[in-house]
Amino acid sequence: MPPDASLLTTQEYEKQQFIRCNTFGHAWFDYDNSDWTPEWGEPLVLRCERCGSERRDTISTSTGDIIGRHYFHPDGYSYDRGTRPTRSEFRILLLAKKIEERGKPKRRKAADTP
Ligand SMILES: [Zn+2]
Repeated sequence: MPPDASLLTTQEYEKQQFIRCNTFGHAWFDYDNSDWTPEWGEPLVLRCERCGSERRDTISTSTGDIIGRHYFHPDGYSYDRGTRPTRSEFRILLLAKKIEERGKPKRRKAADTP
């Protein structure tokens, strides 16, 4: 039996969620990551509520300056060198996705049937 074409693999589904982050930027919220402590300074960690990417900043407690910044992304987020779509291409991908979603037939409620 052939696989259902309407079902996406987990990686394809996640890649589609990444389209919004790559179009709008990440949806950050501050997050306490007890698994990470910088060697000096204070940690300030943000996590994306859509894709789970994490931004780990190290802050100087005397000046407030950012003295270190590292990003961690979920599997499937990264692209091979030279294959990452541009922001404009991500907008086109998102529009195509929204148009496709709009075109799907809506489920009718039992009360709507004659
Ligand atoms: Zn994100």
